[in-house]
Amino acid sequence: MKTFCGRANPTTGSMEWFEEGEDYDYHQEIARSRYADMLHDKDRNVKYYQGIRAAVSRVKERGEKAIVLDIGTGTGLLSMMAASAGADFCYAIEVFKPMANAAVKIVEKNGFSDKIKVINKHSTEVTVGPDGDMQCRANILVTELFDTELIGEGALPTYEHAHKHLVQEGCEAVPHRATVYVQLVESRRMWSWKKLFPVHVEAEDGEKIIVPPSEMENCPGIPSVCDIQLNQMPSSDFTALSEVVTMFSVDFSKPVQSASTYYRVQLEPVKSGKAQIVLSWWDIDMDPSGMINCTMAPYWVKPTSALQWRDHWMQCVYFLPNEEPILQGEKLFLTACRDEYSVWYNLKKAREEEKKADEEEKKTDIGVESPVCRCRAHLLWNRPRFGELNDENRTRQYVRSLRKVLKTDSVCLCISDGSLLPVLAHYLGAKQLFKANHLEDKIKIIEARPELLKPSHLEDKKISVLVGEPFFTTSLLPWHNLYFWYARTAVSSHLASSVTVLPRSASLHVMIVEFQDLWRIRSPCGTCEGFDVQTMDDMINDSLNFRESKEAEPHPLWEYPCKSLSDPREVLTFDFTKTVPEHCLSTEGSVNLLRKGKSHGAVLWMEYHLAADISISTGLMEISNEKGNCEWNPHCKQAVYFFSSVIESETLSDPTAVTYAINFDTKTGEIAMDFKL
Ligand code: SAH
Repeated sequence: MKTFCGRANPTTGSMEWFEEGEDYDYHQEIARSRYADMLHDKDRNVKYYQGIRAAVSRVKERGEKAIVLDIGTGTGLLSMMAASAGADFCYAIEVFKPMANAAVKIVEKNGFSDKIKVINKHSTEVTVGPDGDMQCRANILVTELFDTELIGEGALPTYEHAHKHLVQEGCEAVPHRATVYVQLVESRRMWSWKKLFPVHVEAEDGEKIIVPPSEMENCPGIPSVCDIQLNQMPSSDFTALSEVVTMFSVDFSKPVQSASTYYRVQLEPVKSGKAQIVLSWWDIDMDPSGMINCTMAPYWVKPTSALQWRDHWMQCVYFLPNEEPILQGEKLFLTACRDEYSVWYNLKKAREEEKKADEEEKKTDIGVESPVCRCRAHLLWNRPRFGELNDENRTRQYVRSLRKVLKTDSVCLCISDGSLLPVLAHYLGAKQLFKANHLEDKIKIIEARPELLKPSHLEDKKISVLVGEPFFTTSLLPWHNLYFWYARTAVSSHLASSVTVLPRSASLHVMIVEFQDLWRIRSPCGTCEGFDVQTMDDMINDSLNFRESKEAEPHPLWEYPCKSLSDPREVLTFDFTKTVPEHCLSTEGSVNLLRKGKSHGAVLWMEYHLAADISISTGLMEISNEKGNCEWNPHCKQAVYFFSSVIESETLSDPTAVTYAINFDTKTGEIAMDFKL
């Protein structure tokens, strides 16, 4: 089997297809999987174990044999828990072949081979009967098929099928039920991930305001959920407009319907404000009594209870189609619509709702279509990008820098995806006033790749100012935006000899950090609730080392607190006033560890130097206290390179250093790195 993988080439900015060996796919899947994170989720594991023990006891008390069906067994963990709890037999279903193989090994190593049968199939392919995969239907159904949105990984159709074909009527289910909670909030910060706010530009002749077109203003956006670590959102960044409300529940011990449906609750706002966002999370009750509860509730819901950090289950942010002013105490209806795999929300005032109910059948009125972006901006800009474009401070830096270099007769070329820079540049250079950004005659969009740019595209003029943010939608890691440098090189022949390039240069920065929690996703588990899962650790490790050099991974660090153990260090610079050199750019050096702590890895990010005293950091904003707590650019992902072994610096009398070797390959646009502790 051959696998073709699409990857953006940072030197051309376009997608290229690579042929990869047959192992590639599954190594990628395992290396990036959340298995380690799940196995580190103590709260989840303990509660599953309690729930499974209770379910096995209930079945045994009825004098029945306990036959378990574990759908999506992964490492085999939940089946091993069931077998230890006294289950008579477990059918452990796993669709992903490398995982099913690992489960066989783990089950054997832990001595459960006679009690657990691993079946490498999708559950909907499993057969029951004397010659089938399962001898008989199970009376205990154990699964962990949930994502942050609960149903996004296909839990509903899987349950629906299992109840029809694989389990007995009246079976015990662990978890027994899931409940989805919502809270209506107003938040300028989160709303800025969906709406483009008016952009204020301080020009020579007064303030200009760039307003988004009306199609954008009225666009419902895209349906996909925005899942984040809501616990990193400070309470000052949003206002709760309602209490936490139960939206819907699913009882997994009864037949489940996956067909599209809706749920509606009545709300009374606790505060007047602008309804913009629905925050949502779920919990699962492992037993019918609800005594064993595992919740994703964020910090403000039960401030006294300890939070379990996890990355495989977070919280959801849903954007209402439009912002709605609401009054404290007024009657509102919030509707959650769902199909088999996703959920979206709608808010209506009770008055409208009652009127409509009179006029037509309720059903037709509620069947709300999933939101579809009509303005296309939501297809071009993802949520962090909206946030970035709405960042007033950032815009101010670009405006200040542009103002320094633009003249009324400047011929300006902008290379960046979906950028507002041309509009800013226009407002700063031209002396005319415009109504609603009608700039068709001032800004020309050239539909040509930089290397195919012809003099005629530029009306035979030479470019006097070349600008970029730079930002490209295909970039995964911070340095992929260096595509700007390659594009600048490709258009060299069109540049005036006195050209100004903005940014004039970029630099790559490195800092050694200790993560509060993120280390868990790449850390071996050894044993989990007494079961030896080292086979899994080895398998993840193999996959991480599949490539000769380990790769850095992108993570939005505002969601993952860490503290700096070293000073930030500028390690490479890229001079945009010159073309990309033929030779590689390499550097070696060492950074001293200044603080006590565990060195989990290095964080790398880019800074762009717009003018002599104006720089934009896409990474570290500041180190906020002596403890080394860091503040990161909230719109960008940073690169994280996890060290293969963690060093713990206890004393600082004997300063420890981390040495690095970093190489920017100008042919591929990729950065390879190595760190030694
Ligand atoms: N039960 C394990 C792993 C949970 S991860 C634990 O709790 O630690 C979910 C696993 O289910 C994944 O390995 C995925 O490949 C598998 N899976 C999801 N849907 C499935 C289905 N319908 N049939 C079989 N396997 C499935």
